Amino acid sequence: MTSKLSNNLFINSGFCDTQDKKYIYFFGGKRVEGNAQMKALLGGKGAGLAEMSSISLPVPPGFTITTEVCSFYNENGFKYPENLKAQVESAMEEIEKIQCKKFGDEKNPLLVAVRSGARVSMPGMMDTILNLGLNDNTVEGLAQKTNNKRFAYDSYRRFIQMYGSIVMHISMQKFEQILSYQKSLARVTEDTNLTANDLKEIIEKYKILIREEKKEDFPQDPWTQLWNAITSVFGSWNNERAITYRNINDIPHSWGTAVNIVSMVFGNMGETSATGVAFTRNPSTGEKLFFGEYLVNAQGEDVVAGIRTPQPISLIERKKQNCTSLSMEEVMPEIYEELNKIRFLMENHFKDMQDIEFTIENGKLFILQQRSGKRSAKAAVKIAYDMFNEGIVSKEQALLLINPSSINQLLHPSIDPKAPKKFLTKGLPGSPGAASGIFVLSAEEAIKEASKGKDVILVREETSPDDIHGMHAAQGILTSRGGMTSHAAVVCRGMGRPCICGAGDVVIDHINKSLKINDIELKSGEVIRIDGDLGEVFLGKVKTIEPEVTGEFGIIMEWADEIRRLKVRTNAETPLDATQGRKFGCEGIGLARTEHMFFGPKRTIAVRKMIIAETHEDKKKAIEEILEYQIEDFIEIYKIMKGYPVTIRLLDPPLHEFLPKEKYEIIELAKVTGVSIDLIEKRINSLRELNPMLGNRGCRLGISRPEITEMQARAIFTAAIRVKKECGETVIPEIMIPLAFSKKELDILKIIVEQVKKEVEETEGCKIDYLYGTMIELPRACIVSNELALTAEFFSFGTNDLTQTTYGISRDDFTFYECYRATGIFDCDPFATIDINGVGELMKIACERGIKSNPEIKLGICGEQGGDPNSIKFAEELGLDYISCSPYRIPIARLAAAQAFILKNKK
Ligand code: ADP
Ligand code: MG
Ligand code: MG
Repeated sequence: MTSKLSNNLFINSGFCDTQDKKYIYFFGGKRVEGNAQMKALLGGKGAGLAEMSSISLPVPPGFTITTEVCSFYNENGFKYPENLKAQVESAMEEIEKIQCKKFGDEKNPLLVAVRSGARVSMPGMMDTILNLGLNDNTVEGLAQKTNNKRFAYDSYRRFIQMYGSIVMHISMQKFEQILSYQKSLARVTEDTNLTANDLKEIIEKYKILIREEKKEDFPQDPWTQLWNAITSVFGSWNNERAITYRNINDIPHSWGTAVNIVSMVFGNMGETSATGVAFTRNPSTGEKLFFGEYLVNAQGEDVVAGIRTPQPISLIERKKQNCTSLSMEEVMPEIYEELNKIRFLMENHFKDMQDIEFTIENGKLFILQQRSGKRSAKAAVKIAYDMFNEGIVSKEQALLLINPSSINQLLHPSIDPKAPKKFLTKGLPGSPGAASGIFVLSAEEAIKEASKGKDVILVREETSPDDIHGMHAAQGILTSRGGMTSHAAVVCRGMGRPCICGAGDVVIDHINKSLKINDIELKSGEVIRIDGDLGEVFLGKVKTIEPEVTGEFGIIMEWADEIRRLKVRTNAETPLDATQGRKFGCEGIGLARTEHMFFGPKRTIAVRKMIIAETHEDKKKAIEEILEYQIEDFIEIYKIMKGYPVTIRLLDPPLHEFLPKEKYEIIELAKVTGVSIDLIEKRINSLRELNPMLGNRGCRLGISRPEITEMQARAIFTAAIRVKKECGETVIPEIMIPLAFSKKELDILKIIVEQVKKEVEETEGCKIDYLYGTMIELPRACIVSNELALTAEFFSFGTNDLTQTTYGISRDDFTFYECYRATGIFDCDPFATIDINGVGELMKIACERGIKSNPEIKLGICGEQGGDPNSIKFAEELGLDYISCSPYRIPIARLAAAQAFILKNKK
């Protein structure tokens, strides 16, 4: 029965397509071939369906075509391996036997769903086609067999629409127009009120539309339908929105999707049928309340698409939302109970909060999908805490339930409940957190304004997967339609954007680019603030309060501290950052960049004086001025760090960065220094470099301008002794030499540092200890680390520069990143996550060789990647002593370090 078209879809792939190469995995009846661990091969959906079947949950039978087939298809000129055909046909037969139906049979047709499913869930990004196998004949058989014409035509209508848009690429809108028109003819507003005859007319009009658009008929042969649908689902891996989603979420483009063929169950058979989505706990707050929405007499996408407003499944939720229509708990109490039992069973089995898709066919419940539920950070913390206390998971497992990056959300200010504010309206609290910005009405506008550095709130009737870029660019999302499982709410919870959905009072005027909320009209450019915890919208900015690591969040952080081995330090050079770092639990400073202390109106002048000074006398005067500033800075920071280690990096950037760029600045500098404008300009020119990042900077500067090294060492030691005298706090400063590639460099600077130390000890009459180490930022430094370690007592990997110098890519000129990401050369930004194969290998060499010549050496990371969970995992594997990151990433790093330790020791 296979059509001609599908025959040239296959190629013999030689040795890799041997007779026993397995392309599909079956589930159903008593035979289950996959399991939850096989996500890479079967995709998340396929692995979940298999696992649920194996624990006897009511899953309709089906099979999964592996992700390997997707890769094969993409790499072999869009052809499938020859053996796939026989395997699919035999699996279809197996479903037929279980279901006692036949694919394409005119009296008793088997219908299937063809569903995408990647390794990680990409909600709504790829395609799914339902009711496949229907045609002009089988639809009559279905009508007779079920004695339900309306249902049969409704299913056929849906199938043509999905197939027409997904496989034949006809705009969905054109189908929707026909549907709306027919509804107006029939004078009904809901799809469910269309009669069998109305639906029949729609089907005819759909077929005409297809003929007009494509110059071919809607295919009647079920096997043609099936293969075309499979091909489209594989193809949807490379649709634009899926690519965008992967780019945003750092998912490799090479993974591919699986395809699941599942026999259909029908939620659109009438009043005793329904379809819905449920979360085993509230994904926004984490409360242990059964949460979800369902629609009677509906199929699949109706729930998320916002065509009809879904109803809450539990009574308690209905009351909370003030919803007048009945909950599933009230309408179908027995099925609700059954679902509620499955809820606990699944949480215990999968050991995580679950997101479940279900359908009820004539009073019988089926589970169609399972996955770990996307949740807000707040919910993640509460769920982990509760599940441990309920005995479902261990402490280690609980910690692994929280995505470290997501807790970023908890570290941002929230709306001060006591602050005065102008209330506008209320919607559903789709995703927690507070955000403010000017309102914009389209994804494009959001991207445009955000790229100008503005904070924006994206306001839409509802969002769709095409808005994903704009949602990413926005600080928060507000929609006027859609429920708690709408696209906007689900995506925002995953992304960590605050969201309010279903705020019905919000009326969008796209023509005037304005918003009307009750009686208030907001013009373009006005600022609104949304509170995603309560669902409240306010006019203008509202005062916020600083986040704190307390309550359940604080306890989870304590668990992480008990478990982790890696120490977590902060990068800080200002008292403000140092204080914030301490508040978030840092254990010292891993990087204080002294050049940041050179900025500020008075200081800049002093630094400029020093740079342009001609005579020894002038230099000395200028340097003394800076010295005083530096001593003050260090004293303040040492005091805040209360005895924790403080790593101070000596001056790093090239000097010209401190020099005036504008004429008026030069004139002013000439005035205060008495040096002529001519001479200043000459000095500036002499310091100009073609490749400043590879020029006279780091320790090169310290060696060619030893007076700077001397001054900084003096400030570091003097401050430490003064703090000791004043507060009794023993400070052990760690002096870090940047950009060294040889032992000689370290030795030369050490002589200066030691000399200064002796002098300071003498003048202050007090001894002092310190550590002397280097930042590892050059490939050569990694290779000769055995030599460096003879002088250095610590290595701190400066992974930003190490990445730049390893790749030979300037981070400031990385304009081709997007292109490299799209072509798959990069799976993620190497400046955000350490490149383990290249940069990581150099780090490994540096550690091994360093330890060999100095077993006591302390090892750490202080680059930007120090706060990135994947890089922290690598740091744990390398056995480093600490990582250092910006203050706001410290809780993330504490959790990531604990997870890294747990995962390493599980292996
Ligand atoms: P997504 O990955 O976008 O969630 P799915 O493959 O889960 O796509 O399909 C979307 C919806 O279609 C499901 O939530 C479910 O309601 C419906 N659906 C999928 N498979 C079946 C099936 N075998 N029978 C009935 N409905 C189905
Ligand atoms: Mg789904
Ligand atoms: Mg550097």
